[in-house]
Amino acid sequence: MDLNFTAAEEAFRAEARAWLEANVPTEPLPSGDTRDGFAAHLEWERMLFAARWSVVSWPAAYGGRDASLWEWLIFEEEYYRAGGPQRVTQNGIFLLAPTVFEFGTQEQQDRILPRMAAAEDLWCQGWSEPDAGSDLAGIKSRAERDDAAGGWRVTGQKTWTTRGAFCTHLFGLFRTDPEAERHKGMSYLLIPLDADGVTVRGVGRLDGDEGFAEVFLEDVFVPDADVLGGVNEGWGVAMATTSSERGLTLRSPGRFTAACDRLVDLYQRAAGATERDREQVAQAWMDAEAYRLFTLRDVTEMAEGRSLGARSSLNKVWWSELDVHLHEAALDLLGSLGELEGDAPAAVDRGAWMKGYQFALSGPIYAGTNEIQRNVIAERVLGLPRK
Ligand SMILES: Cc1cc2nc3c(=O)[nH]c(=O)nc-3n(C[C@H](O)[C@H](O)[C@H](O)COP(=O)(O)OP(=O)(O)OC[C@H]3O[C@@H](n4cnc5c(N)ncnc54)[C@H](O)[C@@H]3O)c2cc1C
Repeated sequence: MDLNFTAAEEAFRAEARAWLEANVPTEPLPSGDTRDGFAAHLEWERMLFAARWSVVSWPAAYGGRDASLWEWLIFEEEYYRAGGPQRVTQNGIFLLAPTVFEFGTQEQQDRILPRMAAAEDLWCQGWSEPDAGSDLAGIKSRAERDDAAGGWRVTGQKTWTTRGAFCTHLFGLFRTDPEAERHKGMSYLLIPLDADGVTVRGVGRLDGDEGFAEVFLEDVFVPDADVLGGVNEGWGVAMATTSSERGLTLRSPGRFTAACDRLVDLYQRAAGATERDREQVAQAWMDAEAYRLFTLRDVTEMAEGRSLGARSSLNKVWWSELDVHLHEAALDLLGSLGELEGDAPAAVDRGAWMKGYQFALSGPIYAGTNEIQRNVIAERVLGLPRK
């Protein structure tokens, strides 16, 4: 592997860095998991789009820069290095979009992707249900055929829908053949949240932000044009989305290398740091660096046309546990100061470490719990027996 970037890639980095340094808001935006904060983030996302930094790896026709995977990685590093705001459009641009590129018809790509890139249509993920989380194939929400109207009638409930209360559209899995085996008979449907029969109810999180929603669907009409991939083939389509979610696109290494640089800075500012603190900070920094290097190998393989497949589960366990450990290291450094609210006069870094810790705790749960990832690694990466 050649660890050097080309002159063109370095030029791309310099251009991205210059734009980000000039444009990233100097004051952090309010949390994107609140209604006002979400609106402020959308303004930022639209500014990114106008400058063609919103979806760098997409074709220029859809608002991107035709950037290579390497350039995408470079952009991510620069984005987090500059302290770029959380991407509230992430479930669309990082999860649904790769799936639309892989499974969507030309008509679907042309219709869906430009509006997504421009942050006009805002997508949330409708997979989990009250009785189906880890066991996604246990979903009960169903879609019944309506031949006369040329589509499907959907009834059911989705839950834990991230930023569902603020989004405009939902992608989700629905049972279209109740007689079929569990992993068959599901279809991947695209649903506007303002359609007749949809009710969205926001749900508060541990930190008080309305970051979740429950989505109720009552006889909602979905035309055939909004089935992604084949009818009854939704499981395979969903697994492609899952690979993006666990693997590279949702949580690129730049997010963690930048957080660890901030952690090192915190360590240097902290009074009375102990030997244990020093070791924790060094370990977190090394783990982020290991993820960066591991990713270079992944990207090399992907650039050569191989997919990550079940190996994306390794990434997911690594980044989610790293995120918890790096925030624990920060809170240990801060002691009781870490508990102050962001607007308290003595708060350090506006209380960002506690807020980050609370969110990091959910990392081992979302995108498939780490227990499930370890099962996948055991069976599908290591080839161990199921029992
Ligand atoms: C921050 C956050 C954001 C989320 N966003 C979304 C979203 O946008 N859209 C969406 O659809 N969902 C979302 N989810 C839901 C998430 O996908 C589920 O919480 C997750 O899949 C686990 O499902 P569950 O909560 O039903 O727990 P369960 O599946 O009931 O699991 C409970 C416990 O049992 C363990 N367990 C279950 N089965 C096994 C097994 N076979 N082997 C070993 N252990 C097992 C689990 O690991 C877990 O510890 C989000 C969750 C969080 C925390």
